[in-house]
Amino acid sequence: MAKNNEGGHKEIGQQDIDQAYNKLKQDAEEGGYFLNPDVEFTKALIRGLLVNEQRYGYGACPCRLASCIRQEDLDIICPCDYRDIDINQFNACFCGLYVSADAANGKKTINSIPERRPNIEERRKIQEMKEMKEAKGKNEQTALPKLPIWRCKVCGYLCAREEPPDICPICKVTKDRFERFM
Ligand code: SF4
Repeated sequence: MAKNNEGGHKEIGQQDIDQAYNKLKQDAEEGGYFLNPDVEFTKALIRGLLVNEQRYGYGACPCRLASCIRQEDLDIICPCDYRDIDINQFNACFCGLYVSADAANGKKTINSIPERRPNIEERRKIQEMKEMKEAKGKNEQTALPKLPIWRCKVCGYLCAREEPPDICPICKVTKDRFERFM
């Protein structure tokens, strides 16, 4: 019988973690991403995600402090806004849940990854600026620098990021089949 913890939530068991792990691994592979090959470590992170889903109602990053307000935490709902750029630069996301192909294959090691999420004051300022721009009827503008656009020469998939993905999430071709689109 399912047990409830002190918060009235169903306790997260090993079966829940294993199921979530299998689903995340399948989704990652289908999308051209890789989970950390250290399964025990990865499952510990997934447990954190499941706890956060129960606690907040959304899967906030297990390595960051969430606010309990979904709108304020949109950028850190897993996979967070910073995943791809951290994988490109450091071979892993901030938590180390997702890694690059090279890290997954043991060709690169993962070291500590600096936090690139702006602090709360910066985020508030960014939000205020966005709202001001929107109020003036201007195009929405994010605080992130403009990124190059990459086009998959095989299927036409477009993405804006520092470098093309290791594997096209649509047709699964490798990075060298991408070209700069603009
Ligand atoms: S750092 Fe990794 S685990 Fe944390 S939210 Fe981003 S993608 Fe998910």
